[in-house]
Amino acid sequence: MKKNIMPLRLIPLGGLGEIGKNMMVVEYGDDMIVIDCGQKFPEEEMLGIDMVLPDFTYVIENVKKLRGIILTHGHEDHIGALPYLLKKISVPVFGTKLTLGLLEAKLAEHNIEDTDFREINPDKAISLGCFDINFIRVSHSIPDGVALAIKTPEGIIMHTGDFKIDQTPIDGQLMEFEKITSYRNRLLVLMSDSTNAENSGFTLPEKSVSDTLKELIGTAKNRVIVACFASHIHRIQQVIDAAVGSNRRIVVMGRSMLRNIDIAQDLGYLKIPPKAIVDMSELKHIKAKNLLVLCTGSQGEPLSALTRMAAKNHRNLQIVPGDTVIISAKTVPGNEKSVNRVIDLLFKNGAEVYYKSVSEVHVSGHAAQEELKMMINLTKPKYLIPIHGEYRHLQYHAQLAKMVGMPDKNIIVTGNGNYA
Ligand SMILES: [Zn+2]
Ligand SMILES: [Zn+2]
Repeated sequence: MKKNIMPLRLIPLGGLGEIGKNMMVVEYGDDMIVIDCGQKFPEEEMLGIDMVLPDFTYVIENVKKLRGIILTHGHEDHIGALPYLLKKISVPVFGTKLTLGLLEAKLAEHNIEDTDFREINPDKAISLGCFDINFIRVSHSIPDGVALAIKTPEGIIMHTGDFKIDQTPIDGQLMEFEKITSYRNRLLVLMSDSTNAENSGFTLPEKSVSDTLKELIGTAKNRVIVACFASHIHRIQQVIDAAVGSNRRIVVMGRSMLRNIDIAQDLGYLKIPPKAIVDMSELKHIKAKNLLVLCTGSQGEPLSALTRMAAKNHRNLQIVPGDTVIISAKTVPGNEKSVNRVIDLLFKNGAEVYYKSVSEVHVSGHAAQEELKMMINLTKPKYLIPIHGEYRHLQYHAQLAKMVGMPDKNIIVTGNGNYA
């Protein structure tokens, strides 16, 4: 696209050239919408900083044009900055049921009330100003994620959100391929998730973790402690299923884990048999072989349940020889030191420890190279803008597009604050 000629503007305010704080402005004439509003975890050299936010200035200065914020899914890097923006402006926020459920809890923590929530049904289009927005269900490491197909006066643009192509999803909700292919040869621009563009092949299905979890949890002779992301509802479901299948009661630890399980269960995204989860006070009455602790702390966060158990300063539970600990998550870049420190402490205290580099206890929620090529082949867009990734991920994604025949000049690798 030539700058300044086309009145359609796509302005990334975050998530290009970095992992995190995803935010994209779509603007045409007097209408503007924002896709996602995420936060980023600080890098190691940013001492004393808790979180990093996108630069909202452009949105605040143009708030008169802003018709709504649309959330693709409920991950922190897509909703985490919203409380800070909503303290400055008020605007309708659109999202699927689970995404809004998670956001509501987050806003309550920030004492933000009266937000204008608009729940979307992925089968119904919405209109905001000159934009008509259609939703496409996608697979990812959190339920209820959507991609967006936005009809603008210049043509249709698609934003994939975060996705992978999982043909056997945990909740049975298959990615809506038929909707995606209905846009074949009709897209002006495809903006697609580049997080895993360095990884060859296909990302393994989430279900593949199930067998490993069942095996480890089923054969453990004593207590099992599993740490995973509190937002990974599919993973939590698999851990619960494996625990129930091996006759274990589940104790949940960690504020965000307790909160998300509540929300997901209330909204029907988690199926938990009655009495499977018991209160922390039951801990001492349950035999070691009948107990599974599900907790936060997969990133070695200093105040998390897992770190405190490992350091033997948790009030209710300390790691002892014979415990099995499973860290069912990837290590987010920047957290390697803290995670390794916790793993070392767990070993020192005599636990058997399983984590991603030694056991198949985690698969990614993002599309690898073959899936990214497939997304381009299914849609055949005129232009591709790789989004959600550090610069090398965007470059790799551009290479993939070339491999499937897109001309160089139609692949736009850009960065935050530039517009296409
Ligand atoms: Zn995500
Ligand atoms: Zn993301």
